[in-house]
Amino acid sequence: MAPDLTRRLREEAVVRIIAHVDELTALDQAIGDGDHGFNMKRGFEAITALGDELDALSLGPALQKAGMTLVMKVGGASGPLYGSFLMAMGKAMTGDPLSREDFVGSLAEGVAAVKMRGKSEAGAKTMLDVLVPVLDAVTADDPLAAARQAARDGLEATRNMKATKGRASFLGERSIGHLDPGARSSALLVEVVCDVLEGKV
Ligand code: ADP
Ligand code: MG
Repeated sequence: MAPDLTRRLREEAVVRIIAHVDELTALDQAIGDGDHGFNMKRGFEAITALGDELDALSLGPALQKAGMTLVMKVGGASGPLYGSFLMAMGKAMTGDPLSREDFVGSLAEGVAAVKMRGKSEAGAKTMLDVLVPVLDAVTADDPLAAARQAARDGLEATRNMKATKGRASFLGERSIGHLDPGARSSALLVEVVCDVLEGKV
């Protein structure tokens, strides 16, 4: 695993989130309260502010620290959910060097943490509709290509779902026909990880 992986993930994540803030805002305006773009920007800027301190850590401890930062700095449901995700992933990431099995295992811990914190499962029109299929996909022969496809399909599948968790659930049937903002941000972050691991950015 490249030693500068933490830095590259951190830098690319914030760039990508900032480039999509308006899109995330618009999605959350449609079925929520419109703050998802702002929440994600605030959270990833706080991670960026950790800078060298974060980059000096190996991936597991860096993810834990980034997760704690999200929990502390981001209001809204998404901060604690993404924060729990990263903390659980980081805590489980003990292999050195990190094997593919270690990575899949820690991703599973992260997804389990979101389910527990959100008292939710896939199918409720949330970020889990991207994260769960991505977790299933990473055991494929070409895990990165499978993860990208699973993220795209999972996001698209939220369009016709009725939200049963989070703010969008207040809309009931009226949540149908819109993509879920958290599923969009998750798909974005999956793309970031794949691009960094493939050396595309
Ligand atoms: P808030 O809903 O508090 O305004 P955000 O707008 O930042 O927070 O985040 C909303 C996103 O959080 C939703 O689009 C959804 O993907 C995710 N979310 C909300 N509640 C849950 C939950 N219980 N389980 C999983 N994800 C959830
Ligand atoms: Mg919101």
